[in-house]
Amino acid sequence: MAESKRDYYEVLGVPRDADEAAIKKAYRVLAKKYHPDANPGDKEAEQKFKEASEAYSVLSDPQKRQQYDQFGHAAFDGAAGGAGAGGFGGFDFSGDMGDIFGDIFGDIFGGGRSSRSRSNGPMRGANVRTSVRITFEEAIFGCTKEIEINYKEECPDCHGTGAKPGTSPVTCPKCNGKGKIMYTQQSFFGQVQNVQTCPDCNGTGKVIREKCPKCYGTGYKTVRKKFKVNIPAGIDNGQSVRLAGAGEPGTNGGERGDLLVEAVVSNHPFLKRQDTSIFSTVYIPFATAALGGPIRIKTVDGEVEYEVKPGTQTDTKVRLRGKGVPSLRNRNIRGDHYVTLVVQVPERMTEAQKEALRRFDEEMRGVPSPEPHKKKGFFGK
Ligand SMILES: [Zn+2]
Ligand SMILES: [Zn+2]
Repeated sequence: MAESKRDYYEVLGVPRDADEAAIKKAYRVLAKKYHPDANPGDKEAEQKFKEASEAYSVLSDPQKRQQYDQFGHAAFDGAAGGAGAGGFGGFDFSGDMGDIFGDIFGDIFGGGRSSRSRSNGPMRGANVRTSVRITFEEAIFGCTKEIEINYKEECPDCHGTGAKPGTSPVTCPKCNGKGKIMYTQQSFFGQVQNVQTCPDCNGTGKVIREKCPKCYGTGYKTVRKKFKVNIPAGIDNGQSVRLAGAGEPGTNGGERGDLLVEAVVSNHPFLKRQDTSIFSTVYIPFATAALGGPIRIKTVDGEVEYEVKPGTQTDTKVRLRGKGVPSLRNRNIRGDHYVTLVVQVPERMTEAQKEALRRFDEEMRGVPSPEPHKKKGFFGK
């Protein structure tokens, strides 16, 4: 692909040492000539327009231009690893080029392009964030919580228009309802026309002559509103649940934003969690460690019985399969609970216990001392 591309300087028809202004000027001429709006259905013009736009996007950016001068098109192949330039392989002039359009096209097409007239069209409302505190167990098994937030509701008096009842917003006289205004600027390479959002109507194209006294022209009133939030099993601290359409209202008929409820998970007194794994420490009597025997281990599913093997050393790790946290994607798949068994040496003993231990010690005389215990990690590394 890269080989078949024309040289960017050649595309714009400028010398390699052209300054920024010359590059911009060359691009303006080409863009005006080949813009799809001026050549509807002309594939060749569209291709030339894209080519020129791509060349301009690189040569107008000092960093990208330097990379291009050094590496040519390979700088933007992605595979060649031009830092920060990835993404030019699939060049898309609707995204990154927004600034350039705003800068250059406003004057040419008078805001006729859909991307530039968006400020006047429906705008989606902003997302609202809040949080809810849940327990360790609620995070693991899921729960339903009720939350109350400040919620912008349509003003019942003006039905969201912000205009005094009986009146309605009128077309902004400053911008004639376009939502933006053009102004001419003298620059060192001639007269330049620029576009800015209309300050009178903030780009909405409409102004309110008499404000609704109930909502002071905002069109909304803030109420306390309750929402039920279904927290899924397996949610982790800091993860959010999305309530679609419960955010800020949109403007000009745009849809509402979303409400994002972040789960703040309380610590557990003795269980720790990492992703879908749970960790805890259980203390066992040293006789049980030596002789083996049943113990009870607390898990999120309640107590489970576990058979300690004879000769268990301190810091032995055991895995309770499926006693961990359910996967968020599939609550039937659960992680494991890892238990560290710590052998407890008695600090106080009765005379009889001491006597028994002395006898045990005497019994052990002549028995070679055991190999030092090697600690094993959870995953036997
Ligand atoms: Zn109102
Ligand atoms: Zn206006």
